Amino acid sequence: MPDTPLKLFNSLTRQVETFTPVHEGEARVYTCGPTVYNYAHIGNMRAYVFADVLGRTLRWKGYDLRHVINITDVGHLTDDGDSGEDKLEKAAAGSDRTIWDIARHYTEAFKADVRALNIREPAEWSVATDYIEPMIEFAKSIVDEHCYELDGGLYFDVSSVKDYGRLARAVTEEGEGRIDTVAGKRNAADFAIWRKTPPGETRQMEWDSPWGKGAPGWHLECSVMGEKLLGFPFDIHTGGIDHREIHHPNEIAQNQAFCGCGSLDEATHSGAKIWMHNNFLVERSGKMSKSSGEFLRLQLLIDKGYHPLAYRMMCLQAHYRSELEFSWEGLQAALTRLKRMVMLAEKIKAEVHSSGSAAGEGGKLRPTLEIFESFILEDLNTSAALLAYERTLPLEGIAAPAKYAAIARMDEVIGLNILSLTRADLRIRPKDAQITETEIEDAVARRKDARAAKDFAASDAIRDQLTAKGVEVMDGDPLGWEWKLG
Ligand code: AMP
Ligand code: ZN
Repeated sequence: MPDTPLKLFNSLTRQVETFTPVHEGEARVYTCGPTVYNYAHIGNMRAYVFADVLGRTLRWKGYDLRHVINITDVGHLTDDGDSGEDKLEKAAAGSDRTIWDIARHYTEAFKADVRALNIREPAEWSVATDYIEPMIEFAKSIVDEHCYELDGGLYFDVSSVKDYGRLARAVTEEGEGRIDTVAGKRNAADFAIWRKTPPGETRQMEWDSPWGKGAPGWHLECSVMGEKLLGFPFDIHTGGIDHREIHHPNEIAQNQAFCGCGSLDEATHSGAKIWMHNNFLVERSGKMSKSSGEFLRLQLLIDKGYHPLAYRMMCLQAHYRSELEFSWEGLQAALTRLKRMVMLAEKIKAEVHSSGSAAGEGGKLRPTLEIFESFILEDLNTSAALLAYERTLPLEGIAAPAKYAAIARMDEVIGLNILSLTRADLRIRPKDAQITETEIEDAVARRKDARAAKDFAASDAIRDQLTAKGVEVMDGDPLGWEWKLG
């Protein structure tokens, strides 16, 4: 295949750039991970599907991928600016579980979602509280030139580095949009890199430091884990678009301070070469939230009977830089599309099985693979690549083994598991159904027999019994659903 370059949109330069690795043959990627005070919602999961496609694409290009996703178990405040409470301390205060139990529980739940969405596990899950010592060392190395102490903690002076806030869309000198509740800050955008435990209080999570007992700031964690695990500068830093405004500008400022770097005209001074951000998943009613309305977590989709990969399909249908609106109709459409692909793949698998022949004409699909690749390499255009993938399945005049090989190859990037999913896996099966799948299958088979015997009274009776239990029988459905649980 021709050596097409990988082009990625760099939020820092606002340009699509050609990817060239810092270290020959390697790609080092850091993805801001979840704050484990609650379950991740499906919007959060969109951020990891995006990072996964990026990682898979880097591997497709032959790079040795080193991907870190962190777990934030301390330091993330209820307000991204610089006020509020620690999200985990707050969750623990209203519960009989310890903070550590809470963190463990939601970390495991997050990893289950990752697996269900066929997101590759990163080389390293780095847990923030495992890096307290290095965080203190990092802070010590920048404290003299870049920080000052207030009663509440150690603050980073954003005017001590060049180009603060370049990544953000609109940070004014006053720090637009921030709540500035801390007296004594030199600049509104200054932020705590170490937060002291207030006198007379004890916290479940606190550590000794040269600035008193306390806990690290959220931004410090990512700077330190990125530096420790990947080294500055590494290749790509990812996160959701909200991080472009506060979290990542603050990480960048710390990184510049740490490496003694100057202006951000040189992107690597930020600690990474490329900063990438996925846009939000939104609900029609507005921003997705964990606190209001129906909490859209992956498990809810599964409980309603949807296969989790239908949600992955939904994500891939949109470009990662576009906003994506969630709706149940949209999820249903994504599931139907997935099922159509799986059905075509089942035919191909059956043909491969019965022919037993070797590929022989794989060359015929080279142009298809090249088209697929050209889309994915153009800033991860998954929606176009998906179309190229989908069109390969029903192509005439191509032997099944060649198709099979092409599907396997494209699925390395798309990750929908088209060759291992079955039609039955994709059935809608709500958790609260009043009838089991075996019972339905049984009834559907009896009804088929009745119809074959032209016993329409019996067949109608079976159908009525199924309808009463919420099962819709779908005769002659072009997708072969046969039945659906409503
Ligand atoms: P958090 O656990 O809040 O730190 O968020 C985890 C990741 O999800 C971060 O990269 C966020 O930027 C991202 N994120 C948060 N909300 C959404 C959303 N509605 N759609 C897409 N990504 C989101
Ligand atoms: Zn981060």
